[in-house]
Amino acid sequence: MSKQVTIVGAGPGGLAAALLLAHAGVDVTVVERRDRVGGRTSTIETELGYKFDLGPTFFLYPQILEELFAMCGHDLHREVEMVRLDPQYHLLFEDASGNVHADIRATPDVARMQEEIARISPADAANFPRFMRENRQKFDAFTPILQQPWSGLKDYVKPSLARMLPLVRPWASVDKDLSRYFSNEQVRLSFSFQSKYLGMSPFKCPSLFTILSYLEYDYGVFHPTGGCAAVSEAMARVCESMGVTIELNAQVTDLRFSGKTCTGLSVNGDERSADAVVVNADFAQAMSTMVPDAVRRKWTDAKLEKKKYSCSTFMMYLGVDVPPEELEGIGGGLEHHSIFLAHDYARNLDEIENRHVLSDNPSVYVQHAARTDPTMAPAGKSSLYVLAPVTHEHGNVDWKRDTAAFRRKVLGQMAKFGLGGIEEKIEYEKVITPDGWRDDLNIYKGATFNLAHNLGQMLHLRPNNRFEDLDGVYLVGGGTHPGSGLPVIYEGARITARLLCEDLGVNAAWSAAAPVTAK
Ligand SMILES: Cc1cc2nc3c(=O)[nH]c(=O)nc-3n(C[C@H](O)[C@H](O)[C@H](O)COP(=O)(O)OP(=O)(O)OC[C@H]3O[C@@H](n4cnc5c(N)ncnc54)[C@H](O)[C@@H]3O)c2cc1C
Repeated sequence: MSKQVTIVGAGPGGLAAALLLAHAGVDVTVVERRDRVGGRTSTIETELGYKFDLGPTFFLYPQILEELFAMCGHDLHREVEMVRLDPQYHLLFEDASGNVHADIRATPDVARMQEEIARISPADAANFPRFMRENRQKFDAFTPILQQPWSGLKDYVKPSLARMLPLVRPWASVDKDLSRYFSNEQVRLSFSFQSKYLGMSPFKCPSLFTILSYLEYDYGVFHPTGGCAAVSEAMARVCESMGVTIELNAQVTDLRFSGKTCTGLSVNGDERSADAVVVNADFAQAMSTMVPDAVRRKWTDAKLEKKKYSCSTFMMYLGVDVPPEELEGIGGGLEHHSIFLAHDYARNLDEIENRHVLSDNPSVYVQHAARTDPTMAPAGKSSLYVLAPVTHEHGNVDWKRDTAAFRRKVLGQMAKFGLGGIEEKIEYEKVITPDGWRDDLNIYKGATFNLAHNLGQMLHLRPNNRFEDLDGVYLVGGGTHPGSGLPVIYEGARITARLLCEDLGVNAAWSAAAPVTAK
């Protein structure tokens, strides 16, 4: 009889694990508390026909998901169309007087990118190829580290890590490492703001993560037609075609134990048994609400409380009655992705990460998906996804009190890059604050990118894929190794599925497949 595995949560990690386990012949059920799949990578659809990605909008490094689909006999690109963006995003730098004084339309075309950099700092333009070359090497060395499970110190003696160490420069931050190539602060920011994908400041984020910006230039920034949520929906479709049962509106209230061994779980009040449980729900939230404190040793409630968490995000999803081509930007129409970097970016980060207060001058990101993809808005209209990074839940901020003023502030920032007057054109509006992420999406402290990715919470120090505190419990998603962000979450699901198959004695044909190879 085939082994039965229940996956808690139909987010990207849960769906990727379901694909691989089902293909190995495991009997898989995914239970999801919401009425749709995808978790943070799902859609908001409105009656007026506006469509928004709830969370991710940058689809990076599709190679891993392509490979997962291929391992299961499917073709990702038959399921979802992917458009490579050029420019991949538009960076807008504010000066002390509140004007955008410089901008970069980031492009994977090396010569054009050098011209863009040269408009700000001619001396730095020449170093772009060296940045790419050295980060290509770093990425090639890092790939095997991402692909292996980490459970303890013994894993550090592996040859892949020895190769990696001289390239990682663990003592340096992303910003410091970039100063080896780029003297201009704004140019450095163009290659470091990506630390925010991990919910971290580039002044603290380990230098290893300069590979994030490198990846965009060499492998592309993609927009999946229909949004990133279309990828989650395609994964669910393929899972179901392989026999996976996906139950929606199915809330797991607790995991059941005999000692430290998980024997099953309760779903909407029904007790069920399982040979193993894979937790995709937000790690800290799941542990503190579904697993009794007494059975945990390393990840008790008290210890969870002391861990470092990523920032959160203040979100506005705006359906506006303006044709996509008529939205103004700076130096041309509004691009698909615009990132407005506030004048004192370092102060803005300090307010988010250390002082836990709302900024007077926040940085803001706007996605204008209908510029590329007409399925994202009704004909002749546009859907704007607006994100401002903010502190995770903290006593200094009371969102019931502060939402209206902060919303106004964000609209004011948008006016600085060509979106003044947009408020009168709004036909649909939804706001999500860190409280909303916490309460509606079940995210611990509303920390949208999970546990922070500092060196003390990475590799074996991150909650392990084969969860070290409990038997029969496995983790997938941004809270486990390798971390948050779609490509790494998919890679993490592959690690977890491989470990679980080993433990269940299931011979997974795909586990012998060659891992994704660097370019
Ligand atoms: C605003 C925002 C922007 C982001 N932008 C990007 C980006 O551009 N590119 C990128 O690569 N990544 C991005 N990310 C990060 C990351 O890729 C996504 O958050 C991703 O969806 C996380 O996947 P996950 O598998 O960890 O779980 P989640 O997406 O959190 O899914 C977990 C699932 O578990 C379910 N669940 C929780 N509790 C229970 C329960 N008790 N019972 C049953 N089900 C439960 C939830 O409803 C959810 O569906 C972004 C995240 C956010 C929030």
